[in-house]
Amino acid sequence: MIIDELVGFSNLYGSNEELVLAGGGNTSAKDGDIMYIKGSGTRLCDITAEGFVAMSRSKIAEIFTKTYPDNDKEREALSLADLMAAKLPNQENKRPSVETTLHSLFPQRFVLHLHPALINGVTCSNEGKIACDRLFGNRVLWIDPVKPGYTLAKICYDTLAEYKNATGNDADIVLLANHGIFVADDTVEGLGDKLFFVMDKIREEITNEPDFSVGEFDGEKGRDIFNEISEVFGEDSVVTYEPSALSLEYAKNKESFDKIYYPFNPDQVVYCKPYPVYVEVLGEVKGIVEEYKAKNGFLPKIVFVKDCGLFGVDYSQKGSETAVALFNDAMKISVYARDFGGGKPMSPDLTDFIVNWEAESYRSKQ
Ligand SMILES: [Zn+2]
Repeated sequence: MIIDELVGFSNLYGSNEELVLAGGGNTSAKDGDIMYIKGSGTRLCDITAEGFVAMSRSKIAEIFTKTYPDNDKEREALSLADLMAAKLPNQENKRPSVETTLHSLFPQRFVLHLHPALINGVTCSNEGKIACDRLFGNRVLWIDPVKPGYTLAKICYDTLAEYKNATGNDADIVLLANHGIFVADDTVEGLGDKLFFVMDKIREEITNEPDFSVGEFDGEKGRDIFNEISEVFGEDSVVTYEPSALSLEYAKNKESFDKIYYPFNPDQVVYCKPYPVYVEVLGEVKGIVEEYKAKNGFLPKIVFVKDCGLFGVDYSQKGSETAVALFNDAMKISVYARDFGGGKPMSPDLTDFIVNWEAESYRSKQ
């Protein structure tokens, strides 16, 4: 059964922390006019057949024949409504992944989409496109940064068609700037071959490894800041403290912190909020957090503290730990990107779009 193969490789790749964190990544399989796609709010590591949504491929294809308004909100709402209408009967309670339309563009049976830090070391770097050309030539297709949702799907639709015209082949490895990778193949084995072909090539270029061992931190200050954060965020808050050598490096001074301030990819925005805050001395947390809230309308989830490192804070154990895991991932990306001209975060416009994106906010609520 095709669905068993789909569940099998979803669980396999989903349980590898080098490849998938939290609800990140998604998978699909096609069988005639049916495409099975990961449901929003599920996780690849433990998804079952029930977690996939059965969709009509021909109905999804109609989305690309339509013209939607330029206004972000209207365009996303209307294209999302058309996507929901492409669900097969008895799927009413499920919601397909926000990246369903992208999966539908590949004619191959299986599609695997991931956001691995190693690959994002290239896709979130200043020389990403150059590195992609140099390492892979036209074997791998590169897509510049673009608003997720309908806009990204439409640009991929056009670019995949151009690729087919130019090369005679269907694209089967695509790198999305500030986002991740898509691989497509008619066999499950082929997916793995393509994914690891890309990862192995990138790994050969890497000369810097992130250091997550415990660094030299100020324990007394760390404990006091921990209490201060708990007090400012309230008694329901859960604080996770990780004084890794790498976080201490970024917390050294404002200049180092600025290198990790802007988000690299959508997942970071969803799970960590778009921006972390920087605290130098005791007693500052309240004022800095209030200022952040007044400016953004929500609380930060990541606090960097000079000589102490990284604190994650949220209103559940899971949320707090996930924020730290995703921010560790961002720091990993920034280290890998050093071999590709340094990290290149998303633009503020793109970041704001993701903050406001209805579909993304749905995902973070799961
Ligand atoms: Zn993605």
